[in-house]
Amino acid sequence: MLFIFLYCPQGRTIKVNYGMKRSVEEICSKINKGKAVVMTAGEVCQLIREGENIGLEDVDVVTTATRAIMSGTYAVMSFPIEASRQFTRAKKIFLNGVPAFVGPCPNEKLGILDLMVFGTSHSNLQPDYGAGHLFRDMVQQKEIEVSVITDDNDSFTSAITLNDIPFARLFGTRHCFMNYSAFVNCSSKEVNTIFHAKSFSPDLSEATVSGCGEINPLKNDPLLETIGMGTPVLINGSEGFVIGNGTRSSATRPNLSGFADMHGMDPQLMGGFITSAGPECIVSWAVAIPVISQDVLDAIKTPDSRISLPVMDVDTRKPIGEANYGDVWQDVDLEVTFNPSACNYCPICEAVNKCPMDAIYRNNGKIILDRQLCFNCGLCSTICPSGVFIARLGIIKTYMKCYEEEIYREVPIVLRQSDKKRALKMAEELKRKIIEGQFKIK
Ligand code: SF4
Ligand code: SF4
Repeated sequence: MLFIFLYCPQGRTIKVNYGMKRSVEEICSKINKGKAVVMTAGEVCQLIREGENIGLEDVDVVTTATRAIMSGTYAVMSFPIEASRQFTRAKKIFLNGVPAFVGPCPNEKLGILDLMVFGTSHSNLQPDYGAGHLFRDMVQQKEIEVSVITDDNDSFTSAITLNDIPFARLFGTRHCFMNYSAFVNCSSKEVNTIFHAKSFSPDLSEATVSGCGEINPLKNDPLLETIGMGTPVLINGSEGFVIGNGTRSSATRPNLSGFADMHGMDPQLMGGFITSAGPECIVSWAVAIPVISQDVLDAIKTPDSRISLPVMDVDTRKPIGEANYGDVWQDVDLEVTFNPSACNYCPICEAVNKCPMDAIYRNNGKIILDRQLCFNCGLCSTICPSGVFIARLGIIKTYMKCYEEEIYREVPIVLRQSDKKRALKMAEELKRKIIEGQFKIK
């Protein structure tokens, strides 16, 4: 073990223990004895911003979380179905109009449906309803219409709730990225994209962002020293497991695959997000990181301002600059302030039309905000001209090379595709569960 004593300008002595390593088992034993120090990644980074030093002896487990659009999502379900008469096999299945893939089990003449639903699938009945909406409706125990076309060219519909589905699991093929990006539009035309809830305005006039910065799970363990196959996690609040690396995961751009039972999920952590290229699927992860080494602790202590945020041109999908997460999450509002009395009753309410969560609506002329549905994206604050919705969303400040020249730009953020407010709550909740023995980190 190697101790180094550093003398800081304030006259304090800091002891840095560079040789120290400990096993996950040792940390689990401390948790079981009620002696472990569990902190959220946000708490650690706040202490670092306040000038504190945190050593390996000061913290045992750090909780992290993210809530974001995660396209690489699918659900696997198996359930018996009420049919007017016996059928051989299902050929096509739709859940609330969202197409499912039948199988892989044929279930010949058993009256049982096995199916998969891709998170990016869209309803053939409503253009703004996708699998993300379907999964949330299911978890809310809403009745779902099941339409079946059989091998015998018969067709029938039935209604189910999640309680009627004994096997329903949500999987991620590439979730929980370590690296996200900010997007701007360098071109002179509007672009419809999954990276904006409305058409992306041209000429670098606005930016959209993803990622929860310092509390992102893989930012806190970028070398995957503690996260791997079998690691317990919370997906949409339900206990699940990491399966391994996700698709296209690499050493510099890791992501995870995993799964959890839909029956234990919290609808407020999931849902559908309407982009200008169609509905997308929202998923949340909370991950505990046992602080086993100085390398892990150093990653945890890295605050937003030192985490790189590549800036991409949404038209060409090429990197044109590099900002940091301090621009996104420091000195901003994590949710909008709602002042309905400021409403001017515009003939067409663009805030209602453009809200990606359908969280704003009118009731007897009055404007209503559904906080349960709201994703805290902030877009309404940039659309409403009368200050009904107010939020500071930050500014991307960096050099950007759109054309030949690299020029310093300040581009206002108009949409956040990650919900840091709920991610912080999830990290707090996971911390509570670990301390109270309701969640085992191994
Ligand atoms: S845009 Fe703003 S002021 Fe106009 S109707 Fe909507 S909420 Fe009211
Ligand atoms: S912040 Fe505004 S636009 Fe975004 S989800 Fe909430 S209500 Fe809708």
